[in-house]
Amino acid sequence: MSYHQAEYDEPLIKDMKSGTTYRTPGDDLEDAPVPESLLRESLDLPDVAEFDVVRHYTRLSQMNYGVDIGMYPLGSCTMKYNPKFADQISAMGEFSELHPFQEEGDIQGALMVMFELQHALIKISDMDAITLQPLAGAQGEYTGILIAKKYLEATGQLDKRREIIVPDSAHGTNPASASMAGFDVVEIPSNGDGTVNLEALDAALSGNTAVFMITNPNTLGIFEGHIEKVAKLVHDEGAVIYYDGANLNAIMGKTSPGLMGFDIVHFNLHKTFATPHGGGGPGSGPVAVKGFLRDYLPVPIIGKEGDRYFLDYSMPHSIGKVAPYFGSFAMHLRAWAYITYHGADGLTRNTERAVLNTNYLASKLKDTFSIPFSPLKKHELVLSTENTGKRALEIAKYLLDDGIHPPTVYFPLIVHEDMMIEPTESVSKRDLDFYAEAMKRAAKVDEDELKKHPLNLPVKRIDEVRAARQLVLKWS
Ligand SMILES: *Cc1c(COP(=O)(O)O)cnc(C)c1O
Repeated sequence: MSYHQAEYDEPLIKDMKSGTTYRTPGDDLEDAPVPESLLRESLDLPDVAEFDVVRHYTRLSQMNYGVDIGMYPLGSCTMKYNPKFADQISAMGEFSELHPFQEEGDIQGALMVMFELQHALIKISDMDAITLQPLAGAQGEYTGILIAKKYLEATGQLDKRREIIVPDSAHGTNPASASMAGFDVVEIPSNGDGTVNLEALDAALSGNTAVFMITNPNTLGIFEGHIEKVAKLVHDEGAVIYYDGANLNAIMGKTSPGLMGFDIVHFNLHKTFATPHGGGGPGSGPVAVKGFLRDYLPVPIIGKEGDRYFLDYSMPHSIGKVAPYFGSFAMHLRAWAYITYHGADGLTRNTERAVLNTNYLASKLKDTFSIPFSPLKKHELVLSTENTGKRALEIAKYLLDDGIHPPTVYFPLIVHEDMMIEPTESVSKRDLDFYAEAMKRAAKVDEDELKKHPLNLPVKRIDEVRAARQLVLKWS
């Protein structure tokens, strides 16, 4: 297949002018009765007709790439296909036209959806209570740490417990959240395969430890076999253990943070439960906790008494609110639809598919690239391009001309020239074969040729170093 992305010489909308007298409904609305004191003299709006606005944004979208165009296997970030029925449900007027300040009695259906989603996530994670409020994974982490902090404060331990331990393979948001919540970050080295080094953990743990944060499987796609031992070490020191559950694609229906012994977990609905992210929509990062932390959850959560759903403000030590209203309700609807449609068996099968797809790809790529550590992976695999003599970045740029999105590159930081691939549950064998062939072809192309790519995209090779050093974030 030869891929050519659309390329338009598209002006900014503010520089466009339609110059037509053709009207569409809405153009001829009467002036709204705005009080004199609030009226502006002039407003610098573009003078464009509806059809020019539609065409402008459609052209821009054709110069872009998304999960609706092709495979998008960004490891860790999980760009899984977003099923359209879930979008349709979230767009239903019965939901989208609600106002968050409506009376409880008026919004029973919406409360039911959130209640059922709470229940499903609690079951999936084997935790006891949950908030749906946080608007992203990173905000979920921050919320979870504030909950731990309030608990330590309420139990008189906060004065001495000032440290949060994270492994060096952690997602960057983990130490960032810990630091923003006012803790000192202690980084511990992992074993070569990214699993926890028990001696390093033991040495770092002390009466000063507040929380240990970890994700399992780790960012190398390897499951931490000693996780119960890890949880016990942390608990024996009186600290809280936090599970980064941004991505549950390898464990859902198989095991859970609760079973592994964790006290707090955040979910990314936009990574595990097929809600859009990136340019496609706001995220959602619910946080579930074990019973002893329920009293610290943000308010309100959704409760049920008999047949009636209600806003539950009964948490005496609540950290307060962390998002407006209920959080990303349109995402709650999509995740609820995805979970309800698949059911427990379907979710488990999706886990199996995600892991199978990853290992199928690994088996196709292992003779061309080096795949460090155990060849058996969970939902994502990390390979290194070093043995091919090509840089990961060059191979990634080459893939663009095949009409496919490259994997995550240069993360995690503990493998040289690495690519982190997460195909997800919803790719076909045909797509996996195509991807593997493109990767293998790229590895054989000589360096000078690689450097010319991408050729068939509107944006050609960019100067990444200059882009990072000279940030220009605003068009002027
Ligand atoms: C994506 C991700 C996060 C952060 O989630 P955001 O929604 O992007 O804030 C945290 N941890 C891991 C492991 C992730 O993959």
